[in-house]
Amino acid sequence: MHHLPLNQNISGWLAQHPQRAVFPALTAAIDADWVVIGAGYAGLAFARRLAALKPAWKIAVLEAGTAYESASGRNSGFIIGLPHNIGSSTAELKKAHAYRQLLQAGMQRLKALVDAHRIECAWDAAGKYHCQVAVGQEKILQRYCASLEQMAEDYQLLNRDELQEKLGTRFYHKAIFTPYTVLVNPALLIAGLAATLPANVTLYEHSPALALDYQRGGVTVYTATGAVRAQKAMLATNALSSHLLPGVRRQAAMATFASLTPPLTEQQLARLPQMTSWGLTPVNAIAGATLRFTQDRRFLLRQHVIPALHGNISARQTQRAARLHHQLFRKVYPQLEDVAFSHCWSGTISVTRNGAPQWGKINPFLYTAGGCNGAGISKQTIAGELLADYAVGQDHPLLAAMQALGKASWLPPSPVLDIAIHGALQKERWQGRKER
Ligand SMILES: Cc1cc2nc3c(=O)[nH]c(=O)nc-3n(C[C@H](O)[C@H](O)[C@H](O)COP(=O)(O)OP(=O)(O)OC[C@H]3O[C@@H](n4cnc5c(N)ncnc54)[C@H](O)[C@@H]3O)c2cc1C
Repeated sequence: MHHLPLNQNISGWLAQHPQRAVFPALTAAIDADWVVIGAGYAGLAFARRLAALKPAWKIAVLEAGTAYESASGRNSGFIIGLPHNIGSSTAELKKAHAYRQLLQAGMQRLKALVDAHRIECAWDAAGKYHCQVAVGQEKILQRYCASLEQMAEDYQLLNRDELQEKLGTRFYHKAIFTPYTVLVNPALLIAGLAATLPANVTLYEHSPALALDYQRGGVTVYTATGAVRAQKAMLATNALSSHLLPGVRRQAAMATFASLTPPLTEQQLARLPQMTSWGLTPVNAIAGATLRFTQDRRFLLRQHVIPALHGNISARQTQRAARLHHQLFRKVYPQLEDVAFSHCWSGTISVTRNGAPQWGKINPFLYTAGGCNGAGISKQTIAGELLADYAVGQDHPLLAAMQALGKASWLPPSPVLDIAIHGALQKERWQGRKER
């Protein structure tokens, strides 16, 4: 293990919510039935489900940092129930049906947990706008409308004037509104999930897995100050999985950045229409920006994607993202020149070459659920949960949908991979240059 996630910045989601549960680091050699590496949505969903299926089993979860500081707590908080892009072939549509089933099951699972454990994470069934900036590229949204119709999904098409009323800006040319998205404070959600794990699951934070060793019919995972010897292990490290599995390179780590303003004052709000909370995604996820107006009257902006093969993001890279966010926000809301971001932070996401997840059995002792491809609150929740059923041989009605997503294809090593990622990002930025 050569690299661990490191973001030289602080997430704004927790700034106003300092209290959360604290979990100890692992400081001994212990035995468990299963060891889970990574406490994001995938790892916690797997551990919770396995604990329910096998109440007598002891499950240890090792987290390099803390659950709420992972990408799972640093994201934009869109729990999506529909794929962003569907494609036009019958095969793509079939995959989109499977994907939708999974996303909606992940969302329902999270809702059940939030209700059962009263997790306060500002759960907000607001829906979302999928927005286009450029004029004259009607095909992008037309294609999305056609796919939504094929999937019999409700949607509403809005023009610039209608968007101005809803979002308080004339920046967007057109948008499609779909109701099936929930907005949350993701740090509070993942912290709440970590704090309500079943009794047979023990979470160790600040306990990075440094090496895996397969011996005597089991697996031992070593940390700096302890070790877990278990029958089997589940790798939920998403973007950084290839550092623990150098021979199985199927995910590339990228980073993206988000910024948050303080709550707007009454005087600043007076320059906007009467707005309830909302969220929007861009038609080009690499070039464009995700934007939210939160229940507590703050703006969140997510934009800028860079390669981060080792999961490390510097303060300098954060500064550049903050500058870009500031410039874009001025363009979108020229009337809010006195509103500034108080936090800018990064997080790692995983990208696979063919868009399929890296999910299933890797060897007799090791399973994984990774390859989020940029969107993972609902997807990684259900992927982690289903993996537990799969690993213990329990049938589940959604296993076929999970397997229909296919398998992540192999990636070349550096420097070929670095050059390929750089080229792909440049191409996306060029194609989406009118979206910012
Ligand atoms: C800025 C940003 C905005 C985003 N917006 C959205 C959004 O709005 N909606 C959405 O659905 N998705 C969004 N995403 C993506 C989403 O956050 C990820 O898809 C999701 O977090 C993946 O969950 P996961 O559990 O698979 O992995 P992660 O959340 O990355 O969790 C993996 C965990 O493994 C730990 N780990 C890594 N290496 C080790 C090790 N060696 N030992 C122990 N632990 C280790 C990490 O610390 C981490 O906690 C966004 C991401 C970012 C960065």
